[in-house]
Amino acid sequence: MKAQRFVYADHSATTQMRPEVLQGMMPWMQAGYGNASSIYSIGRRSREGVEKARSTVAKAIGAGSNEVYFTSCGTESDNWAIKGVAEGYRDKGKHIITSAVEHHAVLHTCQHLEKMGYTVTYLPVDAEGTVLLEALERSLRPDTILVSIMMANNEVGTINPISRIGAMLRRRGILFHVDAVQAVGSIAIDVKGMNIDLLSISAHKFYGPKGVGALYIRQGVKLPPFMDGGAQEHGYRAGTENVAGIVGMAEAIKLAVQELPEYTAKCQNLRERLITRVLREIPNVKLNGSRRNRLCGHTNFSFQGVDGEELLLCLDLAGVAASTGSACTTGEAAPSHVLTAMGLSPEEAYSSLRLTLGRENTREDVDYIVEQLKTHVERLRQLPPGYRHKMARLGL
Ligand SMILES: *Cc1c(COP(=O)(O)O)cnc(C)c1O
Repeated sequence: MKAQRFVYADHSATTQMRPEVLQGMMPWMQAGYGNASSIYSIGRRSREGVEKARSTVAKAIGAGSNEVYFTSCGTESDNWAIKGVAEGYRDKGKHIITSAVEHHAVLHTCQHLEKMGYTVTYLPVDAEGTVLLEALERSLRPDTILVSIMMANNEVGTINPISRIGAMLRRRGILFHVDAVQAVGSIAIDVKGMNIDLLSISAHKFYGPKGVGALYIRQGVKLPPFMDGGAQEHGYRAGTENVAGIVGMAEAIKLAVQELPEYTAKCQNLRERLITRVLREIPNVKLNGSRRNRLCGHTNFSFQGVDGEELLLCLDLAGVAASTGSACTTGEAAPSHVLTAMGLSPEEAYSSLRLTLGRENTREDVDYIVEQLKTHVERLRQLPPGYRHKMARLGL
């Protein structure tokens, strides 16, 4: 029996840890187990490991070492940035601006703050999913304390004009948080040049380990501690440091920055092959997001008349790992908030499939994906799409 091919095409969900990263982490999980807060030598060695990692991460995003705080994930970094500004700056105002297409780590945090008496503006986006500078400028108010906009969208890969937004907000003295979880390794980040005050990253999105992230907090921005307890992270994020994870994240971001040109060129090549072949060889397909202004390995298509989730399950049986934009909310799969904000109909949103390529993918992988798509899209089009039931249940 021929071994089945496995093609991982969901790099926006998570990535496989690089061997170099695992190798760098191993010593810290065994002999180097000391608590970084302990003052005997194996504790001090852990402290050195953490601080060296901090300076590596800082350098990779153009920050100072004293401006990088380690967290447990991108979600925590987003929560800290937004809730921290809300609490720390509430005397200045209670208005926050974000976009309608942010990750739920940002959107649900903002919704929580609305319940606490804050006002949140959810900016619309254009048909490609881009936040428009003019719309942002118009929504600014004297009591606006924070703008939170993602660098690149996880569902459609669209890249936002972060430098232009940053320059405008800095002139007006409004704090700017950027969720850059999808951007690290695909876009060069310079928090100073881009006028960013707060920036979230997460290691498992750039071939590092799960369970570790970081928040850049520009010096001068005063946030309250996120976790109360010990004095770790200058007393701002208590809890014994995940030394191995932190070292792994530093190794991963160092490699990501070093290899950025080759990596992006390689992924872009594969992405272009996938997009070109799908659009040419499968009828009634639409590419969601921007044709050019998108993350290097990112594709998202709507296959007319096909339920994306059904297609995903067929691909899974064929050994291809993909994703849909639909999120399971209260047990019912609602159409993607990102695609609907871009103006797609519920049917178009339900018929979407995200394929995100990365390090280990090859041209052969892309060709295999295309062949599988051709077969299964054609087959599924003979049947009524499953999203009809979802739409009926949700009254769409
Ligand atoms: C994955 C992701 C997050 C959440 O990061 P975790 O480390 O998984 O908590 C936040 N924002 C964006 C844009 C993401 O892609």
